[in-house]
Amino acid sequence: MKRTNYCGDVTASLLGTKQTLCGWVNSYRNHGGVLFIDLRDRSGICQVVVEPSKPFFNVASAVRNEYVLQVTGTVQRRIEGAVNKNMKTGEIEVVADEFKVLNTSIPLPFDVDNSRAVAEEIRLKYRYLDLRNPKMFANLLLRHRIAQAARRYLDANGFLEVETPILTRSTPEGARDYLVPSRVHHGEFYALPQSPQMFKQTLMASGIDRYFQLARCFRDEDLRADRQPEHTQIDMEMSFVTIDDIHEIVEGLMKEIFKTAGKELKTPFPKLSFHDAMEKYGSDKPDLRYTLEMKNVNEIFKNTGFKVFKDILTANGAIRALRGEKGAAYSRGHLDKLTELVKKNGAKGLVWIKVKDGKFEGPSAKFFTEEELKAVQSAVCAQDGDIIFIGSDVKLHTCQIFMGALRKELVKELPQVSDWAFVWITNFPLLEYIPEEDRWDAAHNPFTAPLEEDLPNLEKDPASIRSYQFDLVLNGNELASGSVRNCRREVQERILALMKHSKEEAARRFGMLLNALEAGAPPHGGIGLGLDRITALLAGEESIREVIAFPKTAQAVCPLTESPNTVDDIQLKELGISITKE
Ligand code: ASP
Repeated sequence: MKRTNYCGDVTASLLGTKQTLCGWVNSYRNHGGVLFIDLRDRSGICQVVVEPSKPFFNVASAVRNEYVLQVTGTVQRRIEGAVNKNMKTGEIEVVADEFKVLNTSIPLPFDVDNSRAVAEEIRLKYRYLDLRNPKMFANLLLRHRIAQAARRYLDANGFLEVETPILTRSTPEGARDYLVPSRVHHGEFYALPQSPQMFKQTLMASGIDRYFQLARCFRDEDLRADRQPEHTQIDMEMSFVTIDDIHEIVEGLMKEIFKTAGKELKTPFPKLSFHDAMEKYGSDKPDLRYTLEMKNVNEIFKNTGFKVFKDILTANGAIRALRGEKGAAYSRGHLDKLTELVKKNGAKGLVWIKVKDGKFEGPSAKFFTEEELKAVQSAVCAQDGDIIFIGSDVKLHTCQIFMGALRKELVKELPQVSDWAFVWITNFPLLEYIPEEDRWDAAHNPFTAPLEEDLPNLEKDPASIRSYQFDLVLNGNELASGSVRNCRREVQERILALMKHSKEEAARRFGMLLNALEAGAPPHGGIGLGLDRITALLAGEESIREVIAFPKTAQAVCPLTESPNTVDDIQLKELGISITKE
């Protein structure tokens, strides 16, 4: 090795020893003829001192930021006033005896230290510099540790790591496919997998019993702030398991993963049905760091004189209320903003009533009786100084969604009851109706099994069928989705038929899986956990781009490689593709 130690590991225990360090010039200063260079590598920074008497003093004086150096010198204690207690290497410095410039650097577009404050396009264009920032290295290190913890844990629990093809055919997860044209088979395309779903289920039919993979999933979805065209899942599948078995394995996995970040988790995680999650929190990914719950107040208004509520109840609609702690102090402007927020989420309006000095105040208060208002106050446990929000809609789901959006806003003001609030959301509906196409679609993926007791009603009342799908939610983020699958071809075909796939089409698109199911596939189920999101949460990052080495922008562009991009005419010709003007 060209070095004896990492820069960040040279501490007072090495005083008096000779060390050779290699790294980048983080900064340099000339203090009255003595040169100080902060030398950086992935482990941290070490201060190098170059005395003016040294033959290499002129060479050292000419170094600039990000030059690459090799320095040999003696570790000595810094003078009292120069000790930096906040740095691991803050007590020492290395007095250079030998000094070599291994490479120079052009002046760079930004300081590595400040890279995270630079516009993201620029950071991504110069990602090789951005990744020199210590926080970015820490993020990649954490990701590596999480991946290794997952591998160790899953190996110890009998899971086999099996790679599945990247060039394959469409595997539906609700997004568009990325297509790859075949040169050899003119006019034909591979699809990049949206997930290894069909392969992992096929592996169960093969008797592999327990599979995992750190799998790249490719989904051509509409652009959204924190979405990536490709993301990584800790993808798992198991045979002869119940939902509880899957949950237990994943809880153990999360425990191990959190341990790598120095955090202890309590298991088992609580479970909440989709129905209850929507009813209490207005979301299928509720943030349970906060206890605030929505209340069903239909009953309270059953004889109301307020026409809006009366009509809604006659139409079998929903009225839901939320407590706004200390909200009596909210300004009109703030309340207008909250009303705007619910309207953006589907509401026609929002009723609010302040509880002030034992009285109810607000433009709508006069529409209600004292008895009604007292009953709502008690339902949401509002105190003096609070505000009560009441939302209503003829559609229960709409009401839940906009009140859920309001809850999300209100909790920002509330204390957290825990740092890491995990919850399993279970019993999702199996299907959702697509009115424009007059057909049913899978709420998750088409391979999820209906609850055994709901199966007889599959064709009679598809909307009512609950499934064995579950999500793992952490602090309001969906971390994972999984399910127990259809292991019988006949049931799978009935579901595909509701989705309006004819038998022929089903065989064409999902033939591999359907064939495997009818050849003695065991009962099985699995889950895919979002590695990017888990890492981002543990790293304290808002965006998953901060924990992916080479991410794309929110516009699905990679400024570093300038992809996507045009290709040479000859390549197009070989593929038989011609580009039409938009
Ligand atoms: N394939 C699913 C997904 O990507 C995960 C699973 O059900 O295992 O969401």
